[in-house]
Amino acid sequence: MATVTTDRSVALFERALALIPGGVNSPVRAFGSVGGTPRFIARARGCYLWDVDGNRLIDAVGSWGPMILGHAHPVVLEAVSSALASGTSFGAPTELESELAERVLERYPGCQRVRFVNSGTEATMSALRLARGATGRDLTVKFEGNYHGHADALLVAAGSGALTTGVPSSDGVPEAVAGTTLVAPYNDLDAVAALFERFPDRIAAVILEPVAGNMGVVPPAAGFLEGLRDLTRSHDTLLIADEVMTGFRLAPGGAVERYGIDADLVCWGKIVGGGLPVGAYGGPAELMDQISPVGRVYQAGTLSGNPLAMAAGVATLGCMADLPDLYCTLERRGAALEAGLLEAARGASVAVTINRVGSMLTVFFTDIPVVDLPSARAADEAAFGRWFHGLLARGVYWPPSPFEAAFLSYAHEDAEVEVLIETAAAAFCEVT
Ligand SMILES: *Cc1c(COP(=O)(O)O)cnc(C)c1O
Repeated sequence: MATVTTDRSVALFERALALIPGGVNSPVRAFGSVGGTPRFIARARGCYLWDVDGNRLIDAVGSWGPMILGHAHPVVLEAVSSALASGTSFGAPTELESELAERVLERYPGCQRVRFVNSGTEATMSALRLARGATGRDLTVKFEGNYHGHADALLVAAGSGALTTGVPSSDGVPEAVAGTTLVAPYNDLDAVAALFERFPDRIAAVILEPVAGNMGVVPPAAGFLEGLRDLTRSHDTLLIADEVMTGFRLAPGGAVERYGIDADLVCWGKIVGGGLPVGAYGGPAELMDQISPVGRVYQAGTLSGNPLAMAAGVATLGCMADLPDLYCTLERRGAALEAGLLEAARGASVAVTINRVGSMLTVFFTDIPVVDLPSARAADEAAFGRWFHGLLARGVYWPPSPFEAAFLSYAHEDAEVEVLIETAAAAFCEVT
């Protein structure tokens, strides 16, 4: 293994540390859980990143989900440059907004209207407000280990003791706000049923990641999604599918299509913006038309529906629609990666549990099944950190945290999947 020069990244990180909290604009980028200096990226194309020292990396992060076509896709670049030449923001409606809306809604037949915002955080925050407005109820249920962005009411952990309301998981979140959120263990229907018994007629919505990706990948247990739908329906509570990560990735209609979920509201982000800042939420007309200016639930945004962002989203979903083999190719390469990683870990006598759904995958350094947050936390963080640095030193950019999903894009061809596996095999040998 050649020694890797990272002098430029080190210098740029030092400069950023004096200017930006932790040197980063989103915490996990700072390498906090793996240690070391984050690579500063100069450019990207396809499934590769180049850092500022000129090192080429195979990218398994994909900007945390959006880059399903790979980086700098020519059609997306062309669409954004063409929009750019016409001006960057008007604060007035454009045709591009309806074009992207059509592309979203045709993939989600349960939704008739969509509102665009600027991030996944805004999407879930606004969907919750709508759910509260539509039901006239204040409480919501979320699941432990699911992440829905950084709105106050969603930065909440389970309180001590069963059936209590949530407590803030961040300083600065008022207890009164956290107290409106109830927290249940993921994949635990009985816990949700108990919450409904304890708080009858008070729960506006249950929000979840239909495939969890933010405690690492954790698929829904058999019957969990169906059971949630039955429970919420019988209590006149809305079911909100947070598809910010899974939307358009697990199927054209995301996890909603893949698992046949009849969600009341759906939230999107990441892929829908094709690498520009976009979030969205949608649902049936009678619900969505309760949003301003038609209805009495207020929600707005100066840059919402921004033409550059809409152009990137339209081009991305358009290219995806033009690839008839997109999902089966992602599935096949995802399965090959999973099998190769398992064999490599076994070869190095490293115990791992690999959870994968389609093109999202997490390697947990544990020998127990990972089905919820406690089992995810049981994984060996230090071992992950050693594996991560083994990968990075050999030119693979894996997510710098044991609780994140790695993503394949359409630009990761069989050859790169092979390199990922070989590199991982070498890195596994350094874990023990
Ligand atoms: C990334 C993510 C969010 C937050 O989206 P941002 O654009 O980072 O605000 C919300 N929900 C899920 C499931 C996510 O993966």
